[in-house]
Amino acid sequence: MAEGKEAHGWAARDVSGHLSPYHFSRRVPKDDDVTIKVLYCGICHTDLHIIKNDWGNAMYPVVPGHEIVGVVTGVSGGVTRFKAGDTVGVGYFVGSCRSCDSCGKGNENYCAGVVPTSNGVDHAHGGVPTRGFSDVIVVNEHYVVRVPDGLALDRTAPLLCAGVTVYSPMMRHGLNEPGKHLGVVGLGGLGHVAVKFGKAFGMKVTVISTSASKRQEAIENLGADEFLISRDPEQMKAATGTMDGIIDTVSAWHPITPLLALLKPLGEMVIVGGPSKPLELPAYAFVPGGKGVVGSNVGSVGDCQAMLEFAGKHGIGAEVEVIKMDYVNTAIERLEKNDVRYRFVIDVAGSLGSAA
Ligand code: NAP
Ligand code: ZN
Repeated sequence: MAEGKEAHGWAARDVSGHLSPYHFSRRVPKDDDVTIKVLYCGICHTDLHIIKNDWGNAMYPVVPGHEIVGVVTGVSGGVTRFKAGDTVGVGYFVGSCRSCDSCGKGNENYCAGVVPTSNGVDHAHGGVPTRGFSDVIVVNEHYVVRVPDGLALDRTAPLLCAGVTVYSPMMRHGLNEPGKHLGVVGLGGLGHVAVKFGKAFGMKVTVISTSASKRQEAIENLGADEFLISRDPEQMKAATGTMDGIIDTVSAWHPITPLLALLKPLGEMVIVGGPSKPLELPAYAFVPGGKGVVGSNVGSVGDCQAMLEFAGKHGIGAEVEVIKMDYVNTAIERLEKNDVRYRFVIDVAGSLGSAA
């Protein structure tokens, strides 16, 4: 097969998850492809799960990364929505079948054939492995979103996954209405953006955390109204039955029965975190109150564009620590230790060659 642009990325070769430089070729652009020079890429906890094979699906070498912001450097003849120079984003996936019920309804993220941006296999393009962190990416225009003017690009990169992952279920489950009470479990990359969206929707937002050290920032900088320590039974008891909905972003096993107790009758808890060990869901925790437990997976391309427009209007960006590529292994160790406020973002263009 003919080869496209040379790409400079970083890959993990085994379950140690250690990343090191990795050179490969992007595909030759097809008629509806956009070539993007990558400027920034966020580090999501999903990247950590995948490179350490927590979910048993790593296909080494893995080039993680799916929170990409960049600038279009070239478009093929069939591209109608973008031109060179546009500032764009690419999120968790770069393909789907485009013919199933989910794709037909604009829910590409629930297509059985969805192609993740990293650690996937792109059957529509010769079965090539998909790869994230690198200086150039080639993507079908259908899976590219426009970054509204005025947003800081480093702070926008995490919105491409963390942002849409919380925004999409908030919209779908009515957790976007002024006056409603939202609980956000886990104040990490996803959680801190959920707090910002909740406040922008005019909600009362309570953070439920294991980290007392995050209380002041949550309230003073992120705008949360209240902060509960999930391991403090007294604090949890005082908040029983007060929340309309909860978004649970926790990356590790944790008890969910005490969280369900925080919901009002008929309230819903949306689980977006991906602990590798099964959570426990006793019937008494949700049946008597008619409560719902529902999952949610990133968001559609349409959700992602709408989320960016909303972020642009309300000046919402992630709280980020911008790093160079050669700091990535330390960043991942710190992410594993819950030592990040609140997202690492790699300055890709400032670290790697600019093949695009
Ligand atoms: P993150 O930045 O590491 O945040 C996770 C937060 O969970 C931590 O900040 C911590 O918050 C809390 N936490 C960690 N270990 C815990 C434990 N043992 N018990 C209780 N709380 C704990 O991760 P992220 O990038 O936001 O991602 C969170 C999860 O969502 C990951 O599993 C990721 O794979 C998943 N994810 C899912 C989707 C989707 O589409 N469904 C998309 C992206 C990510 P506190 O310090 O406040 O307790
Ligand atoms: Zn992610």
